[in-house]
Amino acid sequence: MSQTSAADPKVSPTADHRDYQALRKRSHECHLLASSASILSWDREVMMPEGGIELRSDQISLLARLYHERMTSPEIGDLIAACEADESLSADPLSPEAVNLREWRRQYDRQVRLPSSLIEEEAALASRGQHAWAEARKNDDFNHFKPFLEKGLDLLKRKAECYGWDDPGEPWDALAEDYEPGCTAAQVAEVFTPLRTDLKSLLDELMGSSTQPSNAFNELKLPQEDQRKFVEFVARSIGFDFHRGRLDVSTHPFCSGTHPGDVRLTTRFHDDNVNDALGSTMHEAGHGMYEQGLPAEHAGTPMGRAVSLGIHESQSRLWENQVGRSRAFWNWLSPRLGEFFGEATSSLSQEDVYAGANRVKPDFIRVEADEATYNMHIMIRFELERAMMNGQLDVADLPGAWKEKYREYLGLDVPDDRRGCLQDVHWSMLSMGYFPTYTLGNLYSAQLFESALEAIPDLESRFERGEFGALKTWLNDNVHAHGQRYRAAELCEHVTGKPLSAEPLLRHLRGKLKPIYGL
Ligand code: ZN
Repeated sequence: MSQTSAADPKVSPTADHRDYQALRKRSHECHLLASSASILSWDREVMMPEGGIELRSDQISLLARLYHERMTSPEIGDLIAACEADESLSADPLSPEAVNLREWRRQYDRQVRLPSSLIEEEAALASRGQHAWAEARKNDDFNHFKPFLEKGLDLLKRKAECYGWDDPGEPWDALAEDYEPGCTAAQVAEVFTPLRTDLKSLLDELMGSSTQPSNAFNELKLPQEDQRKFVEFVARSIGFDFHRGRLDVSTHPFCSGTHPGDVRLTTRFHDDNVNDALGSTMHEAGHGMYEQGLPAEHAGTPMGRAVSLGIHESQSRLWENQVGRSRAFWNWLSPRLGEFFGEATSSLSQEDVYAGANRVKPDFIRVEADEATYNMHIMIRFELERAMMNGQLDVADLPGAWKEKYREYLGLDVPDDRRGCLQDVHWSMLSMGYFPTYTLGNLYSAQLFESALEAIPDLESRFERGEFGALKTWLNDNVHAHGQRYRAAELCEHVTGKPLSAEPLLRHLRGKLKPIYGL
């Protein structure tokens, strides 16, 4: 961008700043430790035989400890202070040096505020908590999980106290800073509350319509090997680079990015529901293209890292929903289904396939939710975890509060806790402040996509020809190339010219779903 001067070597201050170079080297070494742990985690999910779990847990926890020790060493603190004293490094706040220093300071201050006893306690509790949660979910027995969640909540409150939060603010803000820097519960509520009202009335309209789209495409049984070739073809077509990445299978799809040159996606297959495999693959490929698009020359420093989970999620949702559930995309892809599935898909019309990808149905499970109801699941979790962190909701009352909200927001009577408050792993892993990043991602994706459409007016006719390069390049230039130069909210304003709003997502959903439902 024109505001940054770092590209000009005469202005760039890095050449003879030894403290800065030393800090950069330390940051890179920490990244080597963290990325080694990531590859080991990827291997655990994709390749490792069951018998390897004990050694693998020890390997990963050793790397995590070494990482924390290095990140919080007094030497790092001294180097940051020395660099901050050199005003030339921060003269341009958008230069890579200033951005890296800002983020190194932020991370260092947060890490050193946590006593190592609390970090150890957290790791142990998260591991036992996950185990208890899995048991409780399997047996639909909330009381088995309850004492772990109570201990976890107590620990998270202490952790928030260590971090501290701005005034006005609340403990939830301190935890969210790990996932969405600068994001507060009050800001989230301000966007979510009007979104909830508008989504509710859209859902009522869709569910009340006499036209309901065909579900035939989602119920078709298709060989998994054919599905694999199909989703790989789509990932390649939209621009995921297989020379710098790969696609494998795991129970829960994820993306592991350690360097723009090595980005690993996973997906999953069911005999029926090829849309699940396709949506998961496009979602993870969106994450993957962000990782591949980060500036490699800044790898291992904040300038080479993604902004936040919300912005990361905007990239996955944009490819999964704005592209992968659009009519233009299916105009391109439907006629090609026969190449992968032969006669099996020949009875489906183009409309069946498009409508099948966009079917809306309020249901109990978040990870299976459609594009319109998904955000309601998130709002419920946000409101409940905020209330627990603020002491307004006791863990014992969680199942009841959960059911009440599902009745109010989605009109559903949750039959048991397995399909209720025990369905997600997050709270058992002590991740609170995390859930809203999913909906923030949906909001950012819609707003970014509107700007992409303004910049490239023939985007949709390009999709109909199977051309996705212009969109990928636009995202590379406007989002990926910046690393952590901007905070999420700043990036949104910088790229779209407006603060984050729920309107683009609502426009997207209304504009697409109403015609499908004959409204
Ligand atoms: Zn995601």
